[in-house]
Amino acid sequence: MSLESFREETCAWLEENCPKSMRTPMPADEMPQPGRRATFKNPDSKLWLDRMAEKGWTVPHWPKEYGGGGLEVDELQILREEMERIKARTPLFGGMGVSMIGPALLEFGTEEQKKEHLTKICNGGIWWCQGYSEPNSGSDLASLQTRAVLDGDEYAINGSKIWTSGADKADWIYCLVRTDFDVPKHDGISFILFDMDQPGVSVKPIKLISGMSPFCETFFDDAKALRKNIIGEVNKGWTVAKRLLQYERTSIGGGMGGVPAKGSKGPKKTIADMAVDRLGTVDGKIADLGLRDDISTHLMNDKSFALTVHRNTEESRSTTAPTFASSMFKLYGTEQNKNKYELLLRMGGTNVLGWEGDGFAPEDIDLTRDWLRTKANSIEGGTTEVQYNIIAKRVLGLPD
Ligand SMILES: Cc1cc2nc3c(=O)[nH]c(=O)nc-3n(C[C@H](O)[C@H](O)[C@H](O)COP(=O)(O)OP(=O)(O)OC[C@H]3O[C@@H](n4cnc5c(N)ncnc54)[C@H](O)[C@@H]3O)c2cc1C
Repeated sequence: MSLESFREETCAWLEENCPKSMRTPMPADEMPQPGRRATFKNPDSKLWLDRMAEKGWTVPHWPKEYGGGGLEVDELQILREEMERIKARTPLFGGMGVSMIGPALLEFGTEEQKKEHLTKICNGGIWWCQGYSEPNSGSDLASLQTRAVLDGDEYAINGSKIWTSGADKADWIYCLVRTDFDVPKHDGISFILFDMDQPGVSVKPIKLISGMSPFCETFFDDAKALRKNIIGEVNKGWTVAKRLLQYERTSIGGGMGGVPAKGSKGPKKTIADMAVDRLGTVDGKIADLGLRDDISTHLMNDKSFALTVHRNTEESRSTTAPTFASSMFKLYGTEQNKNKYELLLRMGGTNVLGWEGDGFAPEDIDLTRDWLRTKANSIEGGTTEVQYNIIAKRVLGLPD
């Protein structure tokens, strides 16, 4: 089918199938949380999700046989443009299922594993969490100690994870476990999937100073995982884990050129509009000379970064194949995003230092919270310093 015909068909299908209420900005309290415990405040959200999932367009670039739409890069771009044109909401907030474990399964999973897990990601049936970090293993992840011992067709898993985002809401976990203690640390790790809803798994949300609990401590006390749910080979899980991190880093860093920070609602206006609103103009230019310079530099860098991300996607002609360059995107994208929120804070002056209370506008309170959330962008998925190390060794080939 030509791209013109694809656009016409896409346009007609969206017109017929996207409910009117799904063509409005998403109110925070209507954000659907997928998974077994999914709730839909607006029934149209469920209708829209089901229709898009049936069409394969919740994760349009995945193969059709696993619930995707099998779209090529150009078609994907058209679908995005047509959805944007009618202001269609994103039907699925797929989280780590779509951005991390799904792509890793496509690459390393068996046919049976792909069939079992990918479709449930596409239709929003299962919500995933990531069991990588442990209390004594963060940047040095390969030192992890959670152990898995095979007994018949099942592994018994004992140990604990930390900073497990959304573990209290997740249905399944993809987890790094040690299956051999007598070999160099990278060689005894396996990558396994298991259901969180079982007696051997308990989670304890970590309460932050903000009052929120985005992540948990996760404990395994003889948790059970089927042997068939090892991804890749036993003791070769580090290869899968590293690849998944590349997907994660691309996702955290690659989309930062102008979209909300991971975990934040995002400012309601562009940084330039905010500057005009907050600082006023002189001769059509932002009034504050120092900030004007910094904002211009930021916007130029934003544009260059977005073009670099685009070029990388074009060059690889793929939407699912990151490389070690993902560390560069992660590093730059997250630092750029932090810089954006620093500028927004500077523009807002003391108005945007409020945490709560009548003295502050709701959007200023949101901004303060989002600004603080961006600080985590350069920690989650591997810190900035760790990305420097990877770039030095794996991209530039510098000696240890
Ligand atoms: C918002 C958020 C969500 C998260 N979600 C998850 C999740 O869902 N699942 C999960 O498993 N984990 C999650 N994490 C954990 C995250 O992966 C770790 O915080 C991260 O890998 C850093 O590990 P650490 O916190 O143990 O810090 P450490 O490794 O103790 O690092 C402390 C400091 O030392 C520096 N450092 C350490 N080693 C080196 C080195 N070799 N060279 C230079 N500097 C170094 C680091 O850069 C850092 O500044 C999340 C973290 C955040 C902030």
